Amino acid sequence: MSKSLHQAIQFDQQHIWHPYTSMTDPLPCYHVESAHGCEIKLSTGEHLVDGMSSWWAAIHGYNHPQLNEALHAQADKMSHVMFGGLTHQPAIEMVERLIDLAPEPLDRVFIADSGSVSVEVAIKMALQYWFSIGKPQKNQLLTIRGGYHGDTFAAMSVCDPVNGMHHMFRHALCNQRFVERPAVVFGEQWDPNSLSEIQQTLEQHHADIAAVIVEPVVQGAGGMRFYHPEYLSQLRQLCDEFGVLLIADEIATGFGRTGKLFGCDHAGIVPDIMCVGKALTGGYMTLAATLTHRKVAEAIGQGEGGGALMHGPTFMGNPLACAVASASLALIQQGEWQTQVPQIEKQLNEQLKPLANSPAVNEVRVLGAIGVVELTQPVDVARTQALFVELGVWIRPFGRLMYIMPPYCISSAQLTQLTAAISHYVTTVAN
Ligand code: PMP
Repeated sequence: MSKSLHQAIQFDQQHIWHPYTSMTDPLPCYHVESAHGCEIKLSTGEHLVDGMSSWWAAIHGYNHPQLNEALHAQADKMSHVMFGGLTHQPAIEMVERLIDLAPEPLDRVFIADSGSVSVEVAIKMALQYWFSIGKPQKNQLLTIRGGYHGDTFAAMSVCDPVNGMHHMFRHALCNQRFVERPAVVFGEQWDPNSLSEIQQTLEQHHADIAAVIVEPVVQGAGGMRFYHPEYLSQLRQLCDEFGVLLIADEIATGFGRTGKLFGCDHAGIVPDIMCVGKALTGGYMTLAATLTHRKVAEAIGQGEGGGALMHGPTFMGNPLACAVASASLALIQQGEWQTQVPQIEKQLNEQLKPLANSPAVNEVRVLGAIGVVELTQPVDVARTQALFVELGVWIRPFGRLMYIMPPYCISSAQLTQLTAAISHYVTTVAN
């Protein structure tokens, strides 16, 4: 490693926080020079096949010609103008495409600046809806354990309170209601009793509950578990029966990742409020959106306080991000993901499922372009990461979870490199 690269990494270690790490005892970081297609190139020369899509986001791969072109073209016109009192074509076009893709009747859109912020906005929408129609006491949220919705305060309040990453803030968080996670997993036989706890909670407390918030079908950072779509479909009915809004957090599941365009499509339901983010810009920059339908938007609009939705970040509707998102949504509309994702799913099933026979493995789960190997023991992240870099792959495990969600354009050979690396870990390191 050259001296200056070494110095740069040292500087980084001393001065820059990375996600969920300590400043005094940080995990090692690898210095990236560039990324192209499904590969990340390190400044030390290694080419790594990307198994993470930069946390579900880079679905079309890195340095995509159409996304680059959209970004360059927009930068030459304007990078940003305030969204208060001004509007522009990148935002309008992006929202047109989003509405076209989203299930009807979700056609009112708040453009947010990150996934967590879109969850904050979704929660505000739900609370302000009930406030506006004269039911301010409906101000609690109900959710299932094992969930993850982001790191801002309202979002943290609906993350799993025990296994979540935020337990040290629990005394400062709003007190929300939790029920057990759905017991029946995706692909198993449905058990009609699965909703009895959430049904009971809604029966008893619906007068205080504004909304139920869930990640549809896939619980991501809270444990990478896949639950039965029938749970969602019956939850939709219960929300209607008890007059509670349903918020679907599609930030990880949206745009084809689970094999359907949205996670909710597995159950054929439409939420009242839906959050999207991550892959919205194809992983280029931070942008998210909160969608709702006319009923919620109009109630807020006609409500107390002049009817304004009280949120308006500085970089709302950033034209650069909207232009790239529009190009990414255009690729989704072209539909290649519909053949790519099932191919990835088939290969993950073939190459990862056999690992379930290893004593080091608890369970292997595959859905769409997501493959999860749940180990019996936690992974030593630093050591494992170094091993994976040696094997030419970028996979970042957490806890007992070794998981991949590659860009949709990954080749069969590249995907084999990822699964072979996991297999190598399971058979040589974990055993
Ligand atoms: N909800 C879900 C389901 C997520 O996976 C994430 C991101 N990991 C978020 C919300 C928060 O998004 P962001 O990191 O963009 O704030």
